Amino acid sequence: MSRVPLRKALADLPPYVPGARVPVGAAAFKLSSNENPYPPLPSVVAAIADAAVDVNRYPDMYATELVEAIAASLGVAPESVVAGCGSVAVLGHVLTAVCEAGDEVVLPWRSFEAYPIAVTLAGAEGVRVPVGADGRLDLEAMAKAVTSRTRAVLVCTPNNPTGPAVRADELARFLASVPSDVLVVLDEAYVEFVRDEEAADGLAAFADNANVVLLRTFSKAYGLAGLRVGYAVARPRLAAGIRAASTPFGVSHVAQLAALASLRARDELLRRVGSIVTERSRMLDGLRRQGWTVPDSQANFVWLPLGDHATAFAERCTHAGVLVRPFAGDGVRVSVGEPEATDLLLEVTADWSRR
Ligand code: PMP
Repeated sequence: MSRVPLRKALADLPPYVPGARVPVGAAAFKLSSNENPYPPLPSVVAAIADAAVDVNRYPDMYATELVEAIAASLGVAPESVVAGCGSVAVLGHVLTAVCEAGDEVVLPWRSFEAYPIAVTLAGAEGVRVPVGADGRLDLEAMAKAVTSRTRAVLVCTPNNPTGPAVRADELARFLASVPSDVLVVLDEAYVEFVRDEEAADGLAAFADNANVVLLRTFSKAYGLAGLRVGYAVARPRLAAGIRAASTPFGVSHVAQLAALASLRARDELLRRVGSIVTERSRMLDGLRRQGWTVPDSQANFVWLPLGDHATAFAERCTHAGVLVRPFAGDGVRVSVGEPEATDLLLEVTADWSRR
């Protein structure tokens, strides 16, 4: 056994539980990782194949062409965009770029399970602020949790795993009350699925507030979870800091070209997002008709606040051929996928309510 000591902080690191891996060809619907159920478009597969012949070379370190295309699509300067190996890695780089040891990072809880891990690994201390019973972030309480030691606040909108998006008026009040030297990270991993007209517009918040950083990803709406491409949008000075803190060559050549091809096919991919949103409504309506109390969802998943029954319900789902994600003692997150998966899920939930 190795006698090399590990960093003490690792001992308390909460686990990041990956969704179960489903063998290719298995009948189960995998609704446990908020993935896009649809395979890449032929044009994206072709881009991946074309890129494969160059993998003896290092990729473009800063993913220049992709960054320029992202910037153009958002109407921001290319200097403001930093690409990385999934937005979860980019979050780590953002925190590493701003946190000194012992700084505080305010975060909602329950929220994305990678947050406490990323905060701890950045050498900072997480300050958790409970999410309301309606699954909404309590931005007022989060603003109150900011102290002179706070370096950053994580705002997950829509919130994983509970579903609602932050409203524009709430965000405006929040940003007005947080000091301008505290970084506000708006994690918009699911932004393309938002349909709530009152939801905050992250890009507008970024335009108006120099301490706002956006985090976005190609994993969800664009269906490239397996290729790991995410990015941050920040003021050029902050972006340069995030780039400096990033893993060199963090986005592979294959991933860069696939993401570019996905941006070119954006209209078609966003139509798929539209059908997932339709399924989301069908799932929420079906659950509510069965008597379930579920929070609003503006993302590609739905939250079932099952408390102590979470694990048992998830096991029941697995038996029925649909994999979902339990958070023991709290609830179950069900990703929205194909219509057949919604049908099956609603059968299990109807059965469960009749117990
Ligand atoms: N942010 C949130 C809120 C998420 O739910 C996820 C994925 N589960 C991510 C970021 C990370 O996505 P990726 O690393 O695949 O870009």
